[in-house]
Amino acid sequence: MKFELISLEEDRIRFLLSGATAAFANGIRRACMSEVPILAIDEISLYDNTSVLFDEQIGLRLGEVPVVAEDLDGLCRPEDCQCGGAGCPGCRVDFMLSSEGPGTVFSQDIQFTDPGVKPAFDKIPIVVLGEGEKLVIEGFATKRVGKDHSKWQSGTLCGYKNLPSIEIGACDGCGKCVEVCPRNVLVMDEGRAKATNILECSLCKLCVDECEAGVIKLTPVLDSFVVSIEGSGSVPAKQLVASAAEEIRKRAEDLDAKLAELS
Ligand code: SF4
Ligand code: SF4
Ligand SMILES: [Zn+2]
Repeated sequence: MKFELISLEEDRIRFLLSGATAAFANGIRRACMSEVPILAIDEISLYDNTSVLFDEQIGLRLGEVPVVAEDLDGLCRPEDCQCGGAGCPGCRVDFMLSSEGPGTVFSQDIQFTDPGVKPAFDKIPIVVLGEGEKLVIEGFATKRVGKDHSKWQSGTLCGYKNLPSIEIGACDGCGKCVEVCPRNVLVMDEGRAKATNILECSLCKLCVDECEAGVIKLTPVLDSFVVSIEGSGSVPAKQLVASAAEEIRKRAEDLDAKLAELS
Protein backbone atom coordinates (compact mmCIF):
# COMPACT_ATOMS: atom_id res chain seq x y z
CA MET A 1 0.00 0.00 0.00
CA LYS A 2 1.25 3.50 -0.83
CA PHE A 3 0.34 6.85 0.75
CA GLU A 4 0.85 10.12 -1.13
CA LEU A 5 -0.04 13.47 0.41
CA ILE A 6 -2.01 15.74 -1.94
CA SER A 7 -2.69 18.68 0.37
CA LEU A 8 -2.51 19.47 4.07
CA GLU A 9 -4.04 22.30 6.08
CA GLU A 10 -4.64 22.57 9.82
CA ASP A 11 -8.15 21.13 9.69
CA ARG A 12 -8.19 19.23 6.38
CA ILE A 13 -6.06 16.70 4.57
CA ARG A 14 -6.28 15.02 1.18
CA PHE A 15 -4.21 12.02 0.22
CA LEU A 16 -3.94 9.24 -2.33
CA LEU A 17 -4.05 5.63 -1.15
CA SER A 18 -2.80 3.17 -3.76
CA GLY A 19 -2.79 -0.60 -3.60
CA ALA A 20 -5.62 -0.55 -1.04
CA THR A 21 -9.13 -1.96 -0.87
CA ALA A 22 -12.29 0.11 -0.69
CA ALA A 23 -12.88 -1.49 2.73
CA PHE A 24 -9.60 -0.07 4.05
CA ALA A 25 -10.26 3.44 2.65
CA ASN A 26 -13.73 3.30 4.19
CA GLY A 27 -12.23 2.04 7.46
CA ILE A 28 -10.03 5.16 7.65
CA ARG A 29 -13.03 7.36 6.89
CA ARG A 30 -15.19 5.71 9.54
CA ALA A 31 -12.46 5.68 12.17
CA CYS A 32 -11.88 9.43 11.63
CA MET A 33 -15.57 10.05 12.25
CA SER A 34 -16.31 7.69 15.08
CA GLU A 35 -13.20 6.32 16.80
CA VAL A 36 -10.83 9.22 17.47
CA PRO A 37 -11.44 10.65 20.96
CA ILE A 38 -11.84 14.39 21.55
CA LEU A 39 -13.18 16.66 24.28
CA ALA A 40 -16.72 18.06 24.16
CA ILE A 41 -19.01 19.68 26.69
CA ASP A 42 -20.92 16.81 28.26
CA GLU A 43 -23.14 18.11 31.05
CA ILE A 44 -24.26 21.56 32.13
CA SER A 45 -26.04 23.10 35.13
CA LEU A 46 -27.98 26.23 34.26
CA TYR A 47 -28.19 28.70 37.14
CA ASP A 48 -29.73 31.51 35.13
CA ASN A 49 -31.06 31.77 31.61
CA THR A 50 -33.26 34.73 30.80
CA SER A 51 -32.28 34.71 27.12
CA VAL A 52 -34.73 34.04 24.28
CA LEU A 53 -33.44 30.45 23.91
CA PHE A 54 -34.69 27.46 25.87
CA ASP A 55 -32.22 25.76 28.23
CA GLU A 56 -32.09 22.73 25.90
CA GLN A 57 -31.11 24.90 22.92
CA ILE A 58 -28.30 26.50 24.91
CA GLY A 59 -27.11 23.03 25.98
CA LEU A 60 -27.20 21.78 22.40
CA ARG A 61 -25.15 24.72 21.15
CA LEU A 62 -22.53 24.33 23.87
CA GLY A 63 -22.23 20.62 23.10
CA GLU A 64 -21.41 21.38 19.47
CA VAL A 65 -18.55 23.81 20.25
CA PRO A 66 -15.27 22.07 19.26
CA VAL A 67 -12.85 22.03 22.18
CA VAL A 68 -9.05 21.73 22.00
CA ALA A 69 -6.86 20.33 24.77
CA GLU A 70 -3.07 20.71 24.95
CA ASP A 71 -2.77 17.40 26.78
CA LEU A 72 -5.64 15.32 25.44
CA ASP A 73 -3.68 12.10 26.06
CA GLY A 74 -3.46 13.04 29.75
CA LEU A 75 -7.24 12.71 30.10
CA CYS A 76 -9.06 9.38 30.39
CA ARG A 77 -12.40 8.47 28.95
CA PRO A 78 -14.81 8.32 31.94
CA GLU A 79 -15.36 4.56 31.58
CA ASP A 80 -11.59 3.96 31.67
CA CYS A 81 -10.87 6.32 34.59
CA GLN A 82 -9.86 5.16 38.04
CA CYS A 83 -12.94 6.99 39.42
CA GLY A 84 -15.09 4.43 37.61
CA GLY A 85 -16.88 7.13 35.63
CA ALA A 86 -18.13 9.08 38.68
CA GLY A 87 -16.15 12.14 37.50
CA CYS A 88 -12.77 13.45 38.64
CA PRO A 89 -10.01 15.76 37.30
CA GLY A 90 -8.59 12.75 35.42
CA CYS A 91 -11.65 12.43 33.17
CA ARG A 92 -13.43 15.78 33.12
CA VAL A 93 -12.62 19.47 32.70
CA ASP A 94 -14.95 21.94 34.40
CA PHE A 95 -16.03 25.23 32.88
CA MET A 96 -17.99 28.35 33.76
CA LEU A 97 -19.92 30.68 31.48
CA SER A 98 -21.35 33.88 32.89
CA SER A 99 -22.63 36.76 30.78
CA GLU A 100 -25.07 39.62 30.97
CA GLY A 101 -26.65 41.54 28.06
CA PRO A 102 -26.74 43.46 25.96
CA GLY A 103 -24.36 41.55 23.73
CA THR A 104 -23.62 38.25 22.05
CA VAL A 105 -22.31 35.30 24.03
CA PHE A 106 -19.54 33.64 22.02
CA SER A 107 -17.64 30.40 22.47
CA GLN A 108 -14.68 32.41 23.78
CA ASP A 109 -16.77 33.19 26.88
CA ILE A 110 -16.58 29.54 27.96
CA GLN A 111 -13.88 29.53 30.64
CA PHE A 112 -12.36 26.13 31.40
CA THR A 113 -10.61 25.56 34.71
CA ASP A 114 -7.67 23.94 32.87
CA PRO A 115 -5.73 26.70 31.05
CA GLY A 116 -4.69 24.15 28.40
CA VAL A 117 -8.32 23.61 27.35
CA LYS A 118 -10.30 26.09 25.25
CA PRO A 119 -12.85 26.30 22.43
CA ALA A 120 -11.23 25.68 19.03
CA PHE A 121 -12.79 28.87 17.64
CA ASP A 122 -13.46 32.11 19.53
CA LYS A 123 -16.43 33.50 17.67
CA ILE A 124 -19.04 30.74 17.56
CA PRO A 125 -22.22 32.54 18.63
CA ILE A 126 -24.15 30.88 21.48
CA VAL A 127 -26.95 33.40 22.05
CA VAL A 128 -27.69 37.11 21.75
CA LEU A 129 -28.60 38.61 25.12
CA GLY A 130 -30.89 41.64 25.34
CA GLU A 131 -30.58 44.41 27.92
CA GLY A 132 -30.42 42.84 31.41
CA GLU A 133 -30.72 39.24 30.16
CA LYS A 134 -28.39 36.76 31.84
CA LEU A 135 -26.76 33.42 31.20
CA VAL A 136 -24.96 31.64 34.03
CA ILE A 137 -23.82 28.06 33.45
CA GLU A 138 -21.42 25.59 34.99
CA GLY A 139 -20.55 22.26 33.48
CA PHE A 140 -17.83 19.94 32.34
CA ALA A 141 -16.31 18.46 29.21
CA THR A 142 -15.35 14.80 28.81
CA LYS A 143 -13.32 12.83 26.33
CA ARG A 144 -15.29 10.38 24.21
CA VAL A 145 -15.66 9.29 20.59
CA GLY A 146 -18.06 10.05 17.75
CA LYS A 147 -19.89 6.75 18.04
CA ASP A 148 -20.97 7.81 21.57
CA HIS A 149 -22.54 11.03 20.24
CA SER A 150 -21.98 13.29 17.23
CA LYS A 151 -20.64 16.09 19.46
CA TRP A 152 -17.51 13.97 19.93
CA GLN A 153 -17.17 13.45 16.17
CA SER A 154 -13.60 14.49 15.40
CA GLY A 155 -13.85 14.02 11.62
CA THR A 156 -16.74 15.97 10.13
CA LEU A 157 -16.53 15.82 6.33
CA CYS A 158 -14.81 12.55 5.48
CA GLY A 159 -15.04 10.82 2.13
CA TYR A 160 -13.18 8.99 -0.59
CA LYS A 161 -13.50 8.23 -4.27
CA ASN A 162 -11.69 5.99 -6.71
CA LEU A 163 -8.84 7.63 -8.57
CA PRO A 164 -10.21 8.25 -12.09
CA SER A 165 -8.41 7.15 -15.25
CA ILE A 166 -9.24 9.13 -18.41
CA GLU A 167 -8.04 8.01 -21.83
CA ILE A 168 -8.95 10.00 -24.91
CA GLY A 169 -8.74 8.27 -28.30
CA ALA A 170 -9.15 9.75 -31.80
CA CYS A 171 -10.47 13.16 -30.75
CA ASP A 172 -11.92 15.42 -33.49
CA GLY A 173 -11.36 18.55 -31.42
CA CYS A 174 -15.03 19.62 -31.09
CA GLY A 175 -14.40 20.86 -27.52
CA LYS A 176 -17.79 19.79 -26.18
CA CYS A 177 -16.32 17.72 -23.34
CA VAL A 178 -14.24 20.70 -22.16
CA GLU A 179 -17.34 22.90 -22.09
CA VAL A 180 -19.45 20.41 -20.15
CA CYS A 181 -16.88 19.38 -17.50
CA PRO A 182 -17.95 21.04 -14.23
CA ARG A 183 -14.50 20.63 -12.64
CA ASN A 184 -12.25 21.95 -15.41
CA VAL A 185 -10.46 18.62 -15.67
CA LEU A 186 -10.33 18.73 -19.47
CA VAL A 187 -8.59 21.30 -21.67
CA MET A 188 -7.97 21.67 -25.38
CA ASP A 189 -4.33 21.19 -26.30
CA GLU A 190 -3.17 21.45 -29.91
CA GLY A 191 -6.66 20.69 -31.21
CA ARG A 192 -7.27 17.69 -28.96
CA ALA A 193 -8.97 17.24 -25.60
CA LYS A 194 -6.59 16.42 -22.80
CA ALA A 195 -7.13 15.50 -19.13
CA THR A 196 -5.17 17.69 -16.69
CA ASN A 197 -5.98 17.90 -12.97
CA ILE A 198 -7.39 14.40 -12.86
CA LEU A 199 -7.67 14.33 -9.04
CA GLU A 200 -10.56 16.79 -9.35
CA CYS A 201 -12.58 14.51 -11.64
CA SER A 202 -15.79 13.35 -9.92
CA LEU A 203 -16.41 10.50 -12.41
CA CYS A 204 -19.72 12.18 -13.33
CA LYS A 205 -19.39 10.95 -16.96
CA LEU A 206 -20.85 14.14 -18.44
CA CYS A 207 -17.89 14.28 -20.83
CA VAL A 208 -18.49 10.69 -21.95
CA ASP A 209 -22.16 11.43 -22.66
CA GLU A 210 -21.29 14.60 -24.56
CA CYS A 211 -18.62 13.07 -26.81
CA GLU A 212 -20.42 12.09 -30.03
CA ALA A 213 -17.26 10.42 -31.34
CA GLY A 214 -17.32 8.15 -28.27
CA VAL A 215 -13.56 8.35 -27.74
CA ILE A 216 -13.43 9.10 -24.01
CA LYS A 217 -12.72 6.08 -21.84
CA LEU A 218 -13.38 6.87 -18.20
CA THR A 219 -12.70 4.19 -15.59
CA PRO A 220 -12.16 4.14 -11.82
CA VAL A 221 -8.81 2.73 -10.71
CA LEU A 222 -10.15 0.04 -8.43
CA ASP A 223 -7.27 -0.09 -5.93
CA SER A 224 -6.54 3.66 -5.66
CA PHE A 225 -8.53 6.18 -3.63
CA VAL A 226 -8.49 9.92 -3.17
CA VAL A 227 -9.35 10.37 0.52
CA SER A 228 -10.51 13.75 1.88
CA ILE A 229 -10.75 14.28 5.62
CA GLU A 230 -11.91 17.45 7.36
CA GLY A 231 -11.85 17.76 11.14
CA SER A 232 -14.06 19.71 13.54
CA GLY A 233 -11.07 21.72 14.79
CA SER A 234 -10.55 19.73 17.98
CA VAL A 235 -7.48 17.89 16.66
CA PRO A 236 -5.30 18.77 13.63
CA ALA A 237 -6.22 16.81 10.49
CA LYS A 238 -2.81 15.11 10.34
CA GLN A 239 -3.20 13.83 13.91
CA LEU A 240 -6.79 12.80 13.17
CA VAL A 241 -5.76 10.48 10.33
CA ALA A 242 -2.77 9.13 12.29
CA SER A 243 -5.03 8.34 15.28
CA ALA A 244 -7.62 6.70 13.01
CA ALA A 245 -4.94 4.49 11.42
CA GLU A 246 -3.63 3.61 14.88
CA GLU A 247 -7.14 2.61 15.97
CA ILE A 248 -7.47 0.30 12.95
CA ARG A 249 -4.04 -1.21 13.73
CA LYS A 250 -5.07 -1.90 17.35
CA ARG A 251 -8.26 -3.60 16.24
CA ALA A 252 -6.44 -5.73 13.69
CA GLU A 253 -4.02 -6.83 16.42
CA ASP A 254 -6.93 -7.64 18.76
CA LEU A 255 -8.57 -9.69 16.05
CA ASP A 256 -5.28 -11.46 15.36
CA ALA A 257 -4.88 -12.32 19.04
CA LYS A 258 -8.45 -13.62 19.31
CA LEU A 259 -8.08 -15.75 16.20
CA ALA A 260 -4.80 -17.14 17.59
CA GLU A 261 -6.65 -18.14 20.78
CA LEU A 262 -9.22 -20.06 18.73
CA SER A 263 -6.71 -21.94 16.62
S1 SF4 B 1 -16.19 12.63 -15.54
FE1 SF4 B 1 -17.09 14.64 -15.07
S2 SF4 B 1 -15.56 15.67 -13.84
FE2 SF4 B 1 -14.53 13.93 -14.81
S3 SF4 B 1 -13.62 14.79 -16.65
FE3 SF4 B 1 -15.62 14.00 -17.24
S4 SF4 B 1 -17.04 15.71 -17.01
FE4 SF4 B 1 -15.14 16.27 -15.95
S1 SF4 C 1 -16.08 15.68 -26.99
FE1 SF4 C 1 -14.86 13.95 -27.75
S2 SF4 C 1 -14.29 14.54 -29.81
FE2 SF4 C 1 -14.97 16.41 -28.79
S3 SF4 C 1 -13.11 17.31 -27.92
FE3 SF4 C 1 -13.94 16.00 -26.35
S4 SF4 C 1 -12.94 14.02 -26.66
FE4 SF4 C 1 -12.61 15.20 -28.50
ZN1 LIG D 1 -12.40 10.11 36.58
